[in-house]
Amino acid sequence: MELKICHLYPDVLNLYGDGGNIICMKKRLEWRGIKADITNLKIGESNSLADFDLFFMGGGQDFEQEVLLDDLHRGKDKNIISAIEDGKTFLTVCGGYQMLGHYYENQAGVRCEFLGAIDFYTKSKPGRLTGNYSFRCYPISGGSTVFGFENHSGRSYLGLDVSPLGKVINGFGNNGEDKTEGVRYKNVFGTYSHGPVLPKNPELCDFILKTALEQKYGKCQLLPLDDDAEHRAHAAVARKMMY
Ligand code: GLN
Repeated sequence: MELKICHLYPDVLNLYGDGGNIICMKKRLEWRGIKADITNLKIGESNSLADFDLFFMGGGQDFEQEVLLDDLHRGKDKNIISAIEDGKTFLTVCGGYQMLGHYYENQAGVRCEFLGAIDFYTKSKPGRLTGNYSFRCYPISGGSTVFGFENHSGRSYLGLDVSPLGKVINGFGNNGEDKTEGVRYKNVFGTYSHGPVLPKNPELCDFILKTALEQKYGKCQLLPLDDDAEHRAHAAVARKMMY
């Protein structure tokens, strides 16, 4: 078995080491004897995206998100929307997650029109939502408790029929108001969790990998791994949040 993974905009959306999520997914596949074929797709590079099984987009500053707009609207937007509607698996973090919504409005009231692939919008407000945080994924997204780090001025508000990825336990999440964190739409996982989020949250990583493998090959089981180090890292952040 093999997963073809597309890392979208690794050149500009890689805040707080979000690219480490690609390394984590690759290793957790290879440790199980599953090939991981990674393709980087940078600004100006085009691809139909049809051959990929899993996509990753990391976070970026407002400026970097604005830089991407032209490139997005030169065709990647349509290909990303098609991939989402075809049930391809996406992990998108912070700025990369925000770009799937209708728009990002900065504090000057200027709107960056994004993909509109999922019914939500983001508005930047004074005061960044920053710090270690935790949330519990809803059962449809595996039900695991995730510890991560968030740093965003954008507040995302989900449409009535759009499911969050999880419910905030500690911290801010989508907007610091409604206790929602991230988004789950078809096989898209969106989160504000930087870090990278996956190495210290192996259950979430495996759930995302299983989603992509089952979309491609049908029902499958992932062999268990020795996650002692991962669970110790997970517990270390949990302890940090208690004090
Ligand atoms: N620029 C966006 C915001 O501030 C996203 C930030 C990020 O990706 N960490 O909300």
